[in-house]
Amino acid sequence: MKISVAGTGYVGLVTGVCLAEHGHSVTCVDIDENKIAIMKAGISPIYEPGLEELMVRNMERLFFTSNYQEAYRDADVIFIGVGTPEKADGSANLKYVYEVAEQIAASVENDCVVVVKSTVPIGTNDKIESLIQSKLKHNVKVSVASNPEFLSQGTAVKDTLHTSRIVLGVEDEQAGEVLKEVYASFKAPIVVTNRKSAEMIKYASNDFLALKISFINEIANLCEIIGANVEDVAHGMGFDSRIGNKFLNAGIGYGGSCFPKDTKALHWLANFHDYELRTVKAAIDVNENQKLKLIKKSRKYYESLKGLNIAVLGLTFKPGTDDLREAPTLVNIPLMIEDGANVKAWDPVGVENFKKLYSEGITYCSSIEDTLKDADICFIFTEWDEVKDFDLKKYSQLMKTPIVLDGRNCYDLEDVQKQKLVYDSIGRETVK
Ligand code: NAD
Repeated sequence: MKISVAGTGYVGLVTGVCLAEHGHSVTCVDIDENKIAIMKAGISPIYEPGLEELMVRNMERLFFTSNYQEAYRDADVIFIGVGTPEKADGSANLKYVYEVAEQIAASVENDCVVVVKSTVPIGTNDKIESLIQSKLKHNVKVSVASNPEFLSQGTAVKDTLHTSRIVLGVEDEQAGEVLKEVYASFKAPIVVTNRKSAEMIKYASNDFLALKISFINEIANLCEIIGANVEDVAHGMGFDSRIGNKFLNAGIGYGGSCFPKDTKALHWLANFHDYELRTVKAAIDVNENQKLKLIKKSRKYYESLKGLNIAVLGLTFKPGTDDLREAPTLVNIPLMIEDGANVKAWDPVGVENFKKLYSEGITYCSSIEDTLKDADICFIFTEWDEVKDFDLKKYSQLMKTPIVLDGRNCYDLEDVQKQKLVYDSIGRETVK
């Protein structure tokens, strides 16, 4: 079977590489010529644990090109994995998906199945099929199937090779059979449904997870007010199998390229149909406030940030990725700079991407120690292992005033209590 994948971002490249690992021959297509050149040299253009090794191991089955005509012409299956970012009004921007659909229509000379992996609003697969049908250059049969992606950045390779489920939204039996063949060697439950339900499974899953995070964050905020400990609360809740113990970590809110845009897009879609998704709206609102939690906490210690030396640990929206999309730092660091603070920042993989956005106003450090030196206050935004394993003694040794605001609850309160630190985290008592 000849497989092509449109888009070599976190979803497209991981999909292509993992399909190659399962023995398929895969052509990865991207409009970004730089990315294509890098991948041809066996280098992954994104940071994702294990991806480059797997890519190199499967180079004989992997092809990289920006020539979409060649890649799509005689493909049996074409996956679409391009971005669907947020528009200013919260709806999904489908420009890139429709561009690929047009490119497919102009190129295919064989019957094929077009598989939409990008997260798209309910009904989009129908529109993609109509668009392709109306623009086909050759007299061939093109079926469109929805196959949403559930990987998480930071564990994308593992999540794809050992996926929790494969969701197939199909309107014709043959497309379903072709996709079952593609995934024949994957050991995962397969859910076959129609296209709209498959599209909805993706949004409902992401929005439910976002809601779970916003819920525990609100409980954390109340814990702080009334003197309870959110970690103990989450631990106690997690034993109930109806609740589960995952995704109950309180913090400064979710970020990344999915939860923020997928909550807003579903809320927008519901509104468009005159329905108010109140739970999803609440998740969005809570998250917006939560992102500013540490800045608000800092006012307890300093009236203004002006002239302060601020140490920032972690720039990315979560550990294990170089992705900054919707990271809380993107809101917080500009506020610090605007207030006149001197910001020093450390991140093991996110610095280069952050520099592209903020080349001035921040001193980037290559170690946590350098970042903390002479700091008046420290903000922890990402729970990298290097931060969690950092020797707590060093905060008071290196900082001018050892005040640590931890947005990811990296440390045990008992360990912190043994140190000379002011430690203010999320949903737990402040250690002074
Ligand atoms: P991304 O921004 O990392 O990558 C998109 C890629 O598509 C870019 O390399 C871009 O150059 C390329 N592209 C744009 N137009 C193209 C075209 N016409 N032909 C070929 N390539 C083209 O995006 P991503 O994070 O991988 O997300 C892709 C989709 O998957 C989105 O809909 C997203 O919501 C969904 N998704 C993402 C994740 C995630 O964790 N990132 C998880 C599940 C689902």
